Parts: sequence; structure tokens; C-alpha cells
Amino acid sequence: PIYHQAKFINSAPKLKDAPPDQGKEIAFAGRSNAGKSSAINTLVRQNALARVSKTPGRTQLLNFFEIDPERKLVDLPGYGYAKVPEAMKLEWQKMMATYLNQRQALCGIVLVMDIRHPLTDFDWQMVEWCEHRKLPLHILLTKADKLNFGAAKTTLLQVQRELSRVDIVVTLQLFSALNKVGVDDVHQILDEWFGF
Ligand code: GDP
Repeated sequence: PIYHQAKFINSAPKLKDAPPDQGKEIAFAGRSNAGKSSAINTLVRQNALARVSKTPGRTQLLNFFEIDPERKLVDLPGYGYAKVPEAMKLEWQKMMATYLNQRQALCGIVLVMDIRHPLTDFDWQMVEWCEHRKLPLHILLTKADKLNFGAAKTTLLQVQRELSRVDIVVTLQLFSALNKVGVDDVHQILDEWFGF
């Protein structure tokens, strides 16, 4: 229930514009259009905290939300639109690397994947970044409502198997912002990482 109190802090074009690096922070990452904003809004039970993207690949901002003075959620910029110019991709790479390497408060990553397109190159890069920093990773296979339960479960097991060689703690689950599937499971992970 505490997650429903989430409040927008600011949008940072650069890490230097971020709120102070203190307390604990959990970051949400995902390819553009994967369903990250919808997942965040569902988790905090607010329709418009994270903006559901209208123009894909446009915003390259770190969006910070406060749960309480010691705990924040971060909406990382999405990635993956071919139309985005090369210079913008490099800018994105730099910002993500800086954030992921330097942010001390960062205690875990939630990686949002469209269940119909799991483990893209982008997703593997995030997995590698987490491995590098030894950060726990929780994966949401979202839009699970798009598949029947059997197919969703099969994808879950496939992704799990592909990630078995990864050297950090990786957990994963089905999620649907549309049907509110898997919300409690995500809250449990956030609770654990935040130390509630
Ligand atoms: P983002 O770019 O990763 O933040 O993705 P958005 O949250 O903006 O979602 C992209 C599109 O997928 C939007 O049209 C959403 O309405 C849709 N979407 C997001 N989550 C779900 C879901 O769980 N089920 C279904 N069916 N559609 C979803």
C-alpha cells in the first residue's frame, strides 16, 4: 500500500540533475513500448504517474518518484526504436552507463519485457550491466494477457532457462497491467529490496 503514495520528484536529463544519491533506489528499465510506464502506474495504482508513451523513443530522461524519504523508484529511458538517430542512441548509452555504474543508492533493477518479444539485445545489455554491478534483477514478462496461460508459462520457462547461466540473482514473473496480474509479486520484490 505504501507504493500508492508514490510522488513525482523530477525528470533529470543528466545524472547531475538527479535527487541526492542516498537511501535506496529501484530502477525500471525496458525497451520502448514494452509496457514499462503502464507497469509502474499499475504498481503505484496511479493512472498517470509514469507517462504512457505517445511518441516512442522521445524522452531520454531519468524520472524519479519518491515512496518515502529513504526510498525512490526510477523510470529509466526506454530504448529500441530504429528511427532514433545514432547520436541519440550514443547519448542514451552514456546516460544509462553513468547511472548504472555510479548510482550508489541503486539496489535492484526491474526489467520489463513484452512477453511476445522477450530478451532483445537491449534486454541482454541490461542483464550484463546488472551482472557487472552485481545487482539483483527482477523481470516482468508483461502484456501476459496477450497470450493464453499455457503459452505464457512456456515463455516464462524458456526465458528462465536462458538466464540460468547468468551470475546474479534473477527472478521473473508474468505481469499484466491490463488485468492487474502479478502486482502483489512485484510489491514483494520491491519490499525485499527496499528492506521493508
Ligand atoms: P513503455 O514505452 O515501455 O513505457 O510502454 P507503455 O506503458 O507506454 O505501453 C506501450 C503500449 O502497450 C501502450 O499502448 C499500452 O497501452 C500497452 N500495454 C502496456 N501494458 C499492457 C498490458 O499489460 N497488456 C496489454 N494488452 N497492453 C499493454
